[in-house]
Amino acid sequence: MNHEANELIEMLRDAREYTRFVSEMGVETADEPSAIIERAPVDTEPSALFARTAPSLTSKAIESSASSQPRSTAKAPNQLAAASADSLFGEMAEPQPTFTASAETLSDIWTDIGDCTRCGLCEGRTQVVNTHGNPKARLMFVGEAPGADEDAQGKPFVGRAGQLLTKMIEAMGMKREEVIIGNVNRCRPPGNRQPTLEEAAICRPFLFREIATIKPEVIVVMGNTALRNLLEAREGITRVRGKFQDFRGIKVMPTFHPAYLLRDPSKKRETWADLKMVMEYLESVREKRTP
Ligand code: SF4
Repeated sequence: MNHEANELIEMLRDAREYTRFVSEMGVETADEPSAIIERAPVDTEPSALFARTAPSLTSKAIESSASSQPRSTAKAPNQLAAASADSLFGEMAEPQPTFTASAETLSDIWTDIGDCTRCGLCEGRTQVVNTHGNPKARLMFVGEAPGADEDAQGKPFVGRAGQLLTKMIEAMGMKREEVIIGNVNRCRPPGNRQPTLEEAAICRPFLFREIATIKPEVIVVMGNTALRNLLEAREGITRVRGKFQDFRGIKVMPTFHPAYLLRDPSKKRETWADLKMVMEYLESVREKRTP
């Protein structure tokens, strides 16, 4: 088959996947298939995708000051939470080493978190919303913080944005139960404001401990807050999205937050392109493992 025919097949596949994606997300589109094909990305060969991988962002995301605090003594809001990140990931230095997987379980971490009062967000929450999903997931999604629905139900991403995230996961050919989903902060900020830098710095070591336990192959960070707290990226999500980053040896794909997609559905196209790269990567890893 010649190159043009391969390219046409690829474009048709893109168009079909994109149509399914927007359809599953409940988006009405006036696009004719030909219009979709016209705009569909064509450089979807894995080699082309991974050639776009950006150099690792400077990631000083692990607080060297984060120290393990027994719950009974961790009352002051300014105290940093969670086990020593250094003990998990080593000293913060460039280049950052691949972290050593943790022996603790998610239950161990959640027991440690308990009815956490380590930052001021404890005051307005109904309950702590821990990471939820498959503890052996190959794919992890990380967002910002719980909203009202999550605060009420005790699970991340169960509101409108969560329903959209579920559709995104299903459009990738997976079930929500196969992946794992969490947030940088586990308590709902008042009025759904962004967590402050300090609140995020206090809470995120729990997320890092979970990552060390889960050992996902890819983390999709959704939105600026998650991006900046996982990778300490200086650039915003619009510039960084669609380019694989590195978090201690784990591939990280930044993309738009589902809540943002609800406000601006036109960004679903770019989000789908990002998710496709994740799918390609996971598939390439699977193929390598297959004897
Ligand atoms: S947001 Fe995190 S650190 Fe703050 S009280 Fe909730 S669980 Fe604790």
